[in-house]
Amino acid sequence: MEAGGSSLRCFRDCQPEEKFVDDGVETVSSVEQKKVERSIQEVVNVYKQIHSLPEPMLLRQQHYQYLKKGLRHLSEAYECLDASRPWLCFWILHSLELLEEPVPCSVASDVCHFLSSCQSPTGGFSGGPGQHAHLAPTYAAVNALCIIGTEEAYGIIDREKLLDFLWSVKQSDGSFVMHIGGEVDVRSAYCATAVASLTNIMTPKLFENTPSWILRCQSWEGGLGGVPGLEAHGGYTFCGTAALVILDKEHMLDLNALLRWVVSRQMKFEGGFQGRCNKLVDGCYSFWQAGLLPLLHRAYYKQGERALNEQRWMFEQQALQEYILLCCQNPAGGLVDKPGKARDFYHTCYCLSGLSVAQHFGNLLSHHELVLGKEENRLALTHPVYNMGPDKVAQALHHFLQLPVPLEKSPQAKKLET
Ligand SMILES: [Zn+2]
Repeated sequence: MEAGGSSLRCFRDCQPEEKFVDDGVETVSSVEQKKVERSIQEVVNVYKQIHSLPEPMLLRQQHYQYLKKGLRHLSEAYECLDASRPWLCFWILHSLELLEEPVPCSVASDVCHFLSSCQSPTGGFSGGPGQHAHLAPTYAAVNALCIIGTEEAYGIIDREKLLDFLWSVKQSDGSFVMHIGGEVDVRSAYCATAVASLTNIMTPKLFENTPSWILRCQSWEGGLGGVPGLEAHGGYTFCGTAALVILDKEHMLDLNALLRWVVSRQMKFEGGFQGRCNKLVDGCYSFWQAGLLPLLHRAYYKQGERALNEQRWMFEQQALQEYILLCCQNPAGGLVDKPGKARDFYHTCYCLSGLSVAQHFGNLLSHHELVLGKEENRLALTHPVYNMGPDKVAQALHHFLQLPVPLEKSPQAKKLET
Protein backbone atom coordinates (compact mmCIF):
# COMPACT_ATOMS: atom_id res chain seq x y z
CA MET A 1 0.00 0.00 0.00
CA GLU A 2 1.14 3.49 -0.75
CA ALA A 3 0.91 5.81 2.24
CA GLY A 4 -1.24 8.75 1.27
CA GLY A 5 -1.41 12.04 3.08
CA SER A 6 2.27 12.67 3.75
CA SER A 7 1.53 16.20 2.61
CA LEU A 8 -2.02 17.40 2.21
CA ARG A 9 -2.66 19.53 -0.85
CA CYS A 10 -4.48 22.04 1.29
CA PHE A 11 -1.42 22.45 3.55
CA ARG A 12 0.71 23.60 0.63
CA ASP A 13 1.30 27.31 0.18
CA CYS A 14 0.79 27.20 -3.57
CA GLN A 15 -2.75 25.86 -3.31
CA PRO A 16 -4.52 29.28 -3.22
CA GLU A 17 -3.03 29.88 -6.67
CA GLU A 18 -5.41 27.23 -7.96
CA LYS A 19 -8.39 29.45 -7.20
CA PHE A 20 -10.72 30.62 -9.94
CA VAL A 21 -9.81 33.79 -11.85
CA ASP A 22 -12.68 35.57 -13.56
CA ASP A 23 -10.45 37.80 -15.74
CA GLY A 24 -12.43 40.80 -14.53
CA VAL A 25 -15.71 39.55 -15.96
CA GLU A 26 -18.14 38.82 -13.18
CA THR A 27 -21.04 36.46 -13.92
CA VAL A 28 -23.59 34.61 -11.80
CA SER A 29 -21.43 31.47 -12.18
CA SER A 30 -18.18 33.23 -11.23
CA VAL A 31 -19.78 34.74 -8.09
CA GLU A 32 -21.08 31.32 -7.04
CA GLN A 33 -17.73 29.67 -7.78
CA LYS A 34 -15.88 32.17 -5.57
CA LYS A 35 -18.45 31.66 -2.81
CA VAL A 36 -17.84 27.90 -2.85
CA GLU A 37 -14.06 28.40 -2.82
CA ARG A 38 -14.39 30.72 0.19
CA SER A 39 -16.46 28.13 2.08
CA ILE A 40 -13.88 25.44 1.30
CA GLN A 41 -11.05 27.72 2.37
CA GLU A 42 -12.85 28.20 5.71
CA VAL A 43 -13.17 24.44 6.20
CA VAL A 44 -9.46 24.02 5.43
CA ASN A 45 -8.46 26.87 7.79
CA VAL A 46 -10.43 25.33 10.66
CA TYR A 47 -8.89 21.94 9.91
CA LYS A 48 -5.37 23.43 9.95
CA GLN A 49 -6.03 25.16 13.28
CA ILE A 50 -7.17 21.95 14.97
CA HIS A 51 -4.86 19.40 13.33
CA SER A 52 -1.12 19.63 12.95
CA LEU A 53 -1.04 16.19 11.30
CA PRO A 54 -2.42 15.90 7.81
CA GLU A 55 -4.62 12.91 8.51
CA PRO A 56 -8.28 13.51 7.68
CA MET A 57 -10.49 10.83 9.16
CA LEU A 58 -13.45 8.96 7.70
CA LEU A 59 -16.26 9.20 10.31
CA ARG A 60 -17.10 5.50 10.03
CA GLN A 61 -19.17 5.14 13.16
CA GLN A 62 -21.25 8.25 12.48
CA HIS A 63 -21.94 7.18 8.88
CA TYR A 64 -22.82 3.67 10.05
CA GLN A 65 -25.33 4.98 12.62
CA TYR A 66 -26.93 7.30 10.05
CA LEU A 67 -27.26 4.46 7.53
CA LYS A 68 -28.51 1.96 10.09
CA LYS A 69 -31.28 4.30 11.17
CA GLY A 70 -32.30 4.77 7.52
CA LEU A 71 -32.43 1.04 6.90
CA ARG A 72 -34.53 0.37 10.00
CA HIS A 73 -36.96 3.05 8.93
CA LEU A 74 -37.25 1.36 5.52
CA SER A 75 -37.88 -2.06 6.94
CA GLU A 76 -40.50 -0.90 9.44
CA ALA A 77 -42.45 1.78 7.65
CA TYR A 78 -43.63 0.17 4.41
CA GLU A 79 -46.77 2.26 4.31
CA CYS A 80 -44.81 5.46 3.74
CA LEU A 81 -44.88 5.70 -0.04
CA ASP A 82 -42.12 7.39 -1.94
CA ALA A 83 -41.25 7.18 -5.62
CA SER A 84 -37.61 6.25 -4.98
CA ARG A 85 -37.74 3.65 -2.27
CA PRO A 86 -35.72 0.93 -4.05
CA TRP A 87 -33.09 3.65 -4.54
CA LEU A 88 -32.97 4.24 -0.79
CA CYS A 89 -32.43 0.49 -0.31
CA PHE A 90 -29.56 0.47 -2.82
CA TRP A 91 -27.89 3.66 -1.56
CA ILE A 92 -27.94 2.44 2.03
CA LEU A 93 -26.97 -1.20 1.34
CA HIS A 94 -24.12 -0.18 -0.96
CA SER A 95 -22.82 2.40 1.55
CA LEU A 96 -22.88 -0.27 4.25
CA GLU A 97 -20.98 -2.75 2.08
CA LEU A 98 -18.34 -0.10 1.33
CA LEU A 99 -17.97 0.42 5.09
CA GLU A 100 -17.85 -3.39 5.48
CA GLU A 101 -20.78 -3.31 7.90
CA PRO A 102 -22.87 -6.49 7.60
CA VAL A 103 -26.67 -6.27 7.45
CA PRO A 104 -28.50 -8.60 9.90
CA CYS A 105 -30.32 -11.47 8.13
CA SER A 106 -33.71 -10.37 9.43
CA VAL A 107 -33.26 -6.83 8.06
CA ALA A 108 -32.03 -8.22 4.71
CA SER A 109 -35.13 -10.39 4.55
CA ASP A 110 -37.37 -7.39 5.33
CA VAL A 111 -35.73 -5.47 2.50
CA CYS A 112 -36.37 -8.45 0.19
CA HIS A 113 -40.07 -8.43 1.12
CA PHE A 114 -40.29 -4.72 0.54
CA LEU A 115 -38.59 -4.91 -2.87
CA SER A 116 -40.80 -7.81 -3.81
CA SER A 117 -43.83 -5.57 -3.14
CA CYS A 118 -42.33 -3.03 -5.61
CA GLN A 119 -42.13 -5.60 -8.42
CA SER A 120 -44.76 -4.90 -11.06
CA PRO A 121 -47.08 -7.77 -12.13
CA THR A 122 -46.00 -6.93 -15.70
CA GLY A 123 -42.27 -7.07 -14.89
CA GLY A 124 -39.66 -4.60 -13.63
CA PHE A 125 -39.75 -2.66 -10.38
CA SER A 126 -41.47 0.58 -9.44
CA GLY A 127 -40.62 3.37 -7.02
CA GLY A 128 -43.07 2.02 -4.44
CA PRO A 129 -45.76 -0.67 -4.09
CA GLY A 130 -48.59 -0.31 -6.61
CA GLN A 131 -46.76 2.16 -8.85
CA HIS A 132 -45.79 1.66 -12.51
CA ALA A 133 -42.54 -0.09 -13.38
CA HIS A 134 -39.68 2.26 -14.21
CA LEU A 135 -36.12 1.50 -15.33
CA ALA A 136 -34.39 3.54 -12.59
CA PRO A 137 -35.94 1.75 -9.58
CA THR A 138 -35.58 -1.52 -11.52
CA TYR A 139 -31.80 -0.97 -11.60
CA ALA A 140 -31.79 0.05 -7.92
CA ALA A 141 -33.88 -2.97 -6.86
CA VAL A 142 -31.80 -5.50 -8.83
CA ASN A 143 -28.57 -4.00 -7.45
CA ALA A 144 -29.94 -4.01 -3.89
CA LEU A 145 -31.03 -7.66 -4.23
CA CYS A 146 -27.63 -8.66 -5.65
CA ILE A 147 -25.89 -6.90 -2.72
CA ILE A 148 -28.05 -8.92 -0.31
CA GLY A 149 -27.06 -11.89 -2.48
CA THR A 150 -29.17 -14.62 -0.84
CA GLU A 151 -31.27 -17.24 -2.64
CA GLU A 152 -34.32 -15.39 -1.30
CA ALA A 153 -33.09 -12.14 -2.85
CA TYR A 154 -32.24 -13.67 -6.25
CA GLY A 155 -35.53 -15.58 -6.28
CA ILE A 156 -37.58 -12.38 -6.10
CA ILE A 157 -36.54 -11.23 -9.56
CA ASP A 158 -39.04 -12.50 -12.15
CA ARG A 159 -36.59 -12.72 -15.08
CA GLU A 160 -39.14 -13.65 -17.77
CA LYS A 161 -41.26 -10.64 -16.89
CA LEU A 162 -38.21 -8.42 -16.49
CA LEU A 163 -37.32 -9.24 -20.10
CA ASP A 164 -40.93 -8.43 -21.14
CA PHE A 165 -40.62 -5.09 -19.34
CA LEU A 166 -37.34 -4.27 -21.08
CA TRP A 167 -38.95 -5.01 -24.43
CA SER A 168 -41.91 -2.80 -23.54
CA VAL A 169 -39.60 0.22 -23.09
CA LYS A 170 -37.25 -0.52 -26.02
CA GLN A 171 -37.45 1.87 -28.99
CA SER A 172 -36.66 0.97 -32.60
CA ASP A 173 -33.68 3.39 -32.73
CA GLY A 174 -31.97 1.39 -29.96
CA SER A 175 -32.82 3.77 -27.11
CA PHE A 176 -35.09 2.97 -24.15
CA VAL A 177 -37.80 5.04 -22.48
CA MET A 178 -37.57 5.13 -18.67
CA HIS A 179 -41.15 3.82 -18.38
CA ILE A 180 -44.05 3.20 -20.75
CA GLY A 181 -45.00 6.59 -22.17
CA GLY A 182 -41.97 8.19 -20.48
CA GLU A 183 -38.86 10.05 -21.56
CA VAL A 184 -35.82 8.69 -23.40
CA ASP A 185 -32.37 9.34 -22.02
CA VAL A 186 -29.10 7.48 -21.74
CA ARG A 187 -29.70 6.50 -18.08
CA SER A 188 -32.24 4.01 -19.40
CA ALA A 189 -29.66 2.26 -21.59
CA TYR A 190 -27.43 1.80 -18.54
CA CYS A 191 -30.24 0.57 -16.28
CA ALA A 192 -31.43 -1.87 -18.95
CA THR A 193 -27.98 -3.27 -19.83
CA ALA A 194 -26.97 -3.51 -16.15
CA VAL A 195 -30.02 -5.49 -15.02
CA ALA A 196 -30.10 -7.66 -18.16
CA SER A 197 -26.41 -8.60 -17.89
CA LEU A 198 -26.56 -9.26 -14.13
CA THR A 199 -29.61 -11.51 -14.36
CA ASN A 200 -28.62 -13.28 -17.60
CA ILE A 201 -31.52 -12.18 -19.76
CA MET A 202 -29.39 -10.56 -22.48
CA THR A 203 -30.61 -11.55 -25.92
CA PRO A 204 -29.01 -10.53 -29.22
CA LYS A 205 -32.03 -8.52 -30.35
CA LEU A 206 -32.73 -6.70 -27.09
CA PHE A 207 -29.84 -4.27 -27.49
CA GLU A 208 -29.92 -4.03 -31.28
CA ASN A 209 -29.01 -0.43 -32.31
CA THR A 210 -28.38 0.56 -28.68
CA PRO A 211 -24.58 1.10 -29.06
CA SER A 212 -25.03 3.35 -32.09
CA TRP A 213 -27.71 5.37 -30.26
CA ILE A 214 -25.45 5.83 -27.20
CA LEU A 215 -22.51 6.84 -29.40
CA ARG A 216 -24.66 9.64 -30.83
CA CYS A 217 -24.92 11.05 -27.27
CA GLN A 218 -21.18 11.86 -27.19
CA SER A 219 -21.07 15.63 -27.69
CA TRP A 220 -18.39 17.85 -29.23
CA GLU A 221 -17.16 18.40 -25.66
CA GLY A 222 -16.14 14.74 -25.32
CA GLY A 223 -18.59 13.73 -22.58
CA LEU A 224 -22.11 12.40 -23.22
CA GLY A 225 -25.43 14.22 -22.98
CA GLY A 226 -28.78 12.73 -21.96
CA VAL A 227 -29.84 12.39 -25.60
CA PRO A 228 -28.00 13.18 -28.86
CA GLY A 229 -27.33 16.92 -29.17
CA LEU A 230 -27.40 17.83 -25.47
CA GLU A 231 -24.60 19.21 -23.28
CA ALA A 232 -22.14 16.68 -21.82
CA HIS A 233 -22.98 15.76 -18.23
CA GLY A 234 -21.25 13.53 -15.65
CA GLY A 235 -24.18 11.27 -14.76
CA TYR A 236 -25.15 10.65 -18.38
CA THR A 237 -21.52 10.16 -19.40
CA PHE A 238 -21.06 7.46 -16.79
CA CYS A 239 -24.32 5.74 -17.76
CA GLY A 240 -23.57 5.76 -21.51
CA THR A 241 -19.98 4.64 -21.10
CA ALA A 242 -20.81 1.88 -18.61
CA ALA A 243 -23.61 0.63 -20.90
CA LEU A 244 -21.14 0.49 -23.80
CA VAL A 245 -18.69 -1.44 -21.60
CA ILE A 246 -21.43 -4.00 -20.88
CA LEU A 247 -22.17 -4.21 -24.62
CA ASP A 248 -18.41 -4.44 -25.35
CA LYS A 249 -18.49 -1.39 -27.64
CA GLU A 250 -16.76 1.31 -25.56
CA HIS A 251 -13.85 1.40 -28.03
CA MET A 252 -16.23 3.07 -30.49
CA LEU A 253 -16.33 6.23 -28.36
CA ASP A 254 -13.81 9.00 -29.02
CA LEU A 255 -11.84 7.92 -25.94
CA ASN A 256 -9.30 10.75 -26.09
CA ALA A 257 -12.04 13.39 -26.20
CA LEU A 258 -13.85 11.65 -23.33
CA LEU A 259 -10.66 11.47 -21.25
CA ARG A 260 -9.88 15.13 -21.84
CA TRP A 261 -13.42 16.13 -20.88
CA VAL A 262 -13.61 14.09 -17.67
CA VAL A 263 -10.19 15.01 -16.28
CA SER A 264 -11.03 18.67 -16.92
CA ARG A 265 -14.04 18.28 -14.63
CA GLN A 266 -11.81 17.78 -11.54
CA MET A 267 -11.67 21.18 -9.86
CA LYS A 268 -8.20 22.67 -9.39
CA PHE A 269 -8.83 24.23 -5.98
CA GLU A 270 -11.57 22.01 -4.53
CA GLY A 271 -10.17 18.64 -5.63
CA GLY A 272 -13.68 17.25 -6.19
CA PHE A 273 -15.50 17.04 -9.54
CA GLN A 274 -18.11 19.22 -11.23
CA GLY A 275 -20.88 17.58 -13.27
CA ARG A 276 -20.64 19.91 -16.27
CA CYS A 277 -18.33 22.59 -17.57
CA ASN A 278 -18.62 25.86 -15.60
CA LYS A 279 -20.66 24.29 -12.78
CA LEU A 280 -19.84 23.96 -9.08
CA VAL A 281 -18.11 21.04 -7.38
CA ASP A 282 -20.49 18.35 -6.04
CA GLY A 283 -19.63 15.26 -3.96
CA CYS A 284 -21.84 12.88 -5.96
CA TYR A 285 -19.68 13.41 -9.07
CA SER A 286 -16.87 11.78 -7.10
CA PHE A 287 -18.40 8.62 -8.50
CA TRP A 288 -20.13 9.68 -11.73
CA GLN A 289 -16.96 11.37 -13.02
CA ALA A 290 -14.06 9.66 -11.20
CA GLY A 291 -15.83 6.33 -11.80
CA LEU A 292 -15.25 6.87 -15.54
CA LEU A 293 -11.48 6.63 -15.15
CA PRO A 294 -11.43 2.88 -14.37
CA LEU A 295 -13.68 2.34 -17.41
CA LEU A 296 -11.36 4.43 -19.59
CA HIS A 297 -8.23 2.74 -18.22
CA ARG A 298 -9.66 -0.63 -19.20
CA ALA A 299 -10.75 0.61 -22.62
CA TYR A 300 -7.24 1.91 -23.39
CA TYR A 301 -5.70 -1.28 -22.02
CA LYS A 302 -7.91 -3.39 -24.31
CA GLN A 303 -6.72 -1.30 -27.24
CA GLY A 304 -3.13 -2.22 -26.40
CA GLU A 305 -2.15 1.19 -25.05
CA ARG A 306 1.15 0.48 -23.32
CA ALA A 307 1.85 3.93 -21.84
CA LEU A 308 -0.76 3.39 -19.13
CA ASN A 309 0.23 3.90 -15.51
CA GLU A 310 0.09 0.64 -13.56
CA GLN A 311 -0.52 2.18 -10.15
CA ARG A 312 -2.75 5.19 -10.66
CA TRP A 313 -5.96 6.17 -12.40
CA MET A 314 -5.73 9.20 -14.65
CA PHE A 315 -7.04 11.71 -12.08
CA GLU A 316 -5.75 13.26 -8.85
CA GLN A 317 -6.81 10.53 -6.43
CA GLN A 318 -5.48 12.24 -3.33
CA ALA A 319 -7.14 15.58 -4.13
CA LEU A 320 -10.51 13.86 -4.45
CA GLN A 321 -10.03 12.08 -1.12
CA GLU A 322 -9.17 15.40 0.53
CA TYR A 323 -12.34 16.97 -0.84
CA ILE A 324 -14.56 14.11 0.34
CA LEU A 325 -12.97 13.70 3.78
CA LEU A 326 -12.58 17.40 4.61
CA CYS A 327 -15.57 18.98 2.88
CA CYS A 328 -18.28 16.33 2.41
CA GLN A 329 -18.69 14.68 5.81
CA ASN A 330 -21.53 15.68 8.12
CA PRO A 331 -20.09 15.42 11.66
CA ALA A 332 -23.28 13.59 12.73
CA GLY A 333 -22.93 11.04 9.90
CA GLY A 334 -23.84 11.02 6.21
CA LEU A 335 -22.10 12.80 3.35
CA VAL A 336 -23.02 15.90 1.39
CA ASP A 337 -22.70 17.69 -1.96
CA LYS A 338 -20.51 20.53 -0.63
CA PRO A 339 -19.95 22.39 2.69
CA GLY A 340 -23.20 23.86 4.04
CA LYS A 341 -25.49 21.37 2.26
CA ALA A 342 -27.72 18.85 4.03
CA ARG A 343 -26.78 15.17 4.14
CA ASP A 344 -28.77 12.56 2.24
CA PHE A 345 -28.44 8.89 1.33
CA TYR A 346 -27.79 9.64 -2.36
CA HIS A 347 -24.73 11.78 -1.63
CA THR A 348 -23.61 9.37 1.09
CA CYS A 349 -23.63 6.51 -1.42
CA TYR A 350 -21.88 8.33 -4.26
CA CYS A 351 -19.31 10.17 -2.10
CA LEU A 352 -18.32 6.84 -0.53
CA SER A 353 -18.32 5.11 -3.94
CA GLY A 354 -16.02 7.82 -5.32
CA LEU A 355 -13.79 7.59 -2.25
CA SER A 356 -13.44 3.85 -2.87
CA VAL A 357 -12.47 4.47 -6.53
CA ALA A 358 -9.89 7.04 -5.40
CA GLN A 359 -8.40 4.65 -2.82
CA HIS A 360 -8.12 1.53 -5.00
CA PHE A 361 -6.40 1.19 -8.34
CA GLY A 362 -6.80 -1.97 -10.38
CA ASN A 363 -9.07 -4.94 -9.92
CA LEU A 364 -9.12 -8.08 -7.80
CA LEU A 365 -6.06 -9.43 -9.66
CA SER A 366 -3.77 -6.45 -9.61
CA HIS A 367 -4.30 -3.88 -6.95
CA HIS A 368 -2.60 -0.74 -5.71
CA GLU A 369 -3.93 1.33 -2.83
CA LEU A 370 -3.60 5.01 -2.11
CA VAL A 371 -5.46 5.62 1.14
CA LEU A 372 -5.37 9.14 2.48
CA GLY A 373 -5.17 9.26 6.30
CA LYS A 374 -5.17 6.29 8.60
CA GLU A 375 -5.63 2.66 7.62
CA GLU A 376 -9.20 2.77 9.06
CA ASN A 377 -10.22 5.10 6.23
CA ARG A 378 -9.96 2.27 3.74
CA LEU A 379 -13.27 1.30 2.12
CA ALA A 380 -14.14 -1.93 0.33
CA LEU A 381 -13.80 -2.11 -3.47
CA THR A 382 -16.63 -1.21 -5.77
CA HIS A 383 -17.22 -2.70 -9.22
CA PRO A 384 -16.68 0.14 -11.71
CA VAL A 385 -19.56 -0.86 -13.99
CA TYR A 386 -22.32 -1.90 -11.56
CA ASN A 387 -21.20 0.04 -8.45
CA MET A 388 -21.53 -2.78 -5.96
CA GLY A 389 -18.96 -5.13 -4.43
CA PRO A 390 -17.08 -7.02 -7.20
CA ASP A 391 -17.63 -10.22 -5.18
CA LYS A 392 -21.39 -9.56 -5.26
CA VAL A 393 -21.30 -9.08 -9.03
CA ALA A 394 -19.39 -12.36 -9.46
CA GLN A 395 -21.79 -14.18 -7.14
CA ALA A 396 -24.89 -12.88 -8.97
CA LEU A 397 -23.43 -13.78 -12.37
CA HIS A 398 -22.56 -17.24 -11.09
CA HIS A 399 -26.12 -17.71 -9.83
CA PHE A 400 -27.99 -16.39 -12.88
CA LEU A 401 -25.72 -17.94 -15.50
CA GLN A 402 -26.90 -21.34 -14.30
CA LEU A 403 -30.44 -20.42 -15.32
CA PRO A 404 -31.50 -20.44 -19.00
CA VAL A 405 -31.97 -17.13 -20.82
CA PRO A 406 -35.76 -16.67 -21.06
CA LEU A 407 -37.31 -17.04 -24.49
CA GLU A 408 -37.43 -13.72 -26.23
CA LYS A 409 -40.85 -12.24 -26.74
CA SER A 410 -40.45 -9.11 -28.82
CA PRO A 411 -43.47 -6.76 -28.97
CA GLN A 412 -44.18 -8.07 -32.48
CA ALA A 413 -44.30 -11.67 -31.23
CA LYS A 414 -46.58 -10.64 -28.36
CA LYS A 415 -48.97 -8.90 -30.76
CA LEU A 416 -49.30 -12.14 -32.72
CA GLU A 417 -50.11 -14.04 -29.55
CA THR A 418 -53.01 -11.81 -28.54
ZN1 LIG B 1 -24.87 15.94 -6.10
